[in-house]
Amino acid sequence: MKIEKSSQDLENEVIYAGLCIHCGSCNAFCPHMDFNSETGEAFVVDECAETVGLCYNACPRSFLPVSEIEEKLFGQTRVDLAVGVYKDIIQVKSKTKDDILYNLVLAAFESGVVKHFVLSEPKSKKPPVAFPVVVDNAKDAKQYIPKATMDNAGPLITGIGKAYLDKKRDIGIIANPCHLQGLGKILVSDFNTGAERTSLKIAYACSSGGMTGCKYCTDFSGEFSDISYSPWGAPKGSGEAFLIIRTDIGQKVVDHAIKKKYLEITNKQPDLSEMKKFLNNKRKKNFKTLMGRDLITAKYLELNIDEFKDLLE
Ligand code: SF4
Ligand code: SF4
Repeated sequence: MKIEKSSQDLENEVIYAGLCIHCGSCNAFCPHMDFNSETGEAFVVDECAETVGLCYNACPRSFLPVSEIEEKLFGQTRVDLAVGVYKDIIQVKSKTKDDILYNLVLAAFESGVVKHFVLSEPKSKKPPVAFPVVVDNAKDAKQYIPKATMDNAGPLITGIGKAYLDKKRDIGIIANPCHLQGLGKILVSDFNTGAERTSLKIAYACSSGGMTGCKYCTDFSGEFSDISYSPWGAPKGSGEAFLIIRTDIGQKVVDHAIKKKYLEITNKQPDLSEMKKFLNNKRKKNFKTLMGRDLITAKYLELNIDEFKDLLE
């Protein structure tokens, strides 16, 4: 999967078109892109001679062949139109004084699934901008656990590139769905990067990261993750959340958290109707926004348009 387009095409089709969501995928393994430290916006540093740009091919907003990525990441395409590929969905609560996401990070370190974690350090709320930090143990992770998806708005995927340059392996990440779309594209691409050192992807289910490009976003749950964390849909005020477990690695981390009594399953077969209502509202609204624009500009949907047929009715 490689398209012959360059950083100039990325500028024209994504950045200047208002589709960019500051995810950092274009810059994770390429020095010719960078980010504005105050706004988080991506920009091209210099004109490179590359005609098949990693930046263009990594960007989740240039094109997004959802089924092809699912097939390569999971060995199958989605089992549920709304939620994606998954093995199990459970409702959990924390059994400790720490929150659910931290307990997943702790379990990931303890079970040996990760040795490092890319997390976010918010720098500004308006506009929401965060930059990645790489931690090497669960204790250091504690201060960087996101409380909301806006805490993650920024080029977090560059944290994977940074960890790679520091010769780190077995890297985990907590990110928004859009970040994992970019990382998923890099992982299944024909480019030789260090992204395969990522061993765990946790998605924070997201209705908005507060960026202009969010209004074209159709992934709520983080469909390319190993585990999606969704407080949305669980009983309000309960502190509980749904975990959408998509892979064996995700299952291993959740099993460890339950075995060590960091998390408790409160419902093995939760009612998903509230979550799906929320999720479909976002997809429907943003899909309509996309349909309202020039589809050539917004062609990142071109390749998964079948997925949205139901929303056209
Ligand atoms: S990869 Fe991410 S940060 Fe880079 S142009 Fe695309 S959406 Fe923007
Ligand atoms: S809504 Fe959330 S997942 Fe979608 S682009 Fe914005 S921050 Fe990313």
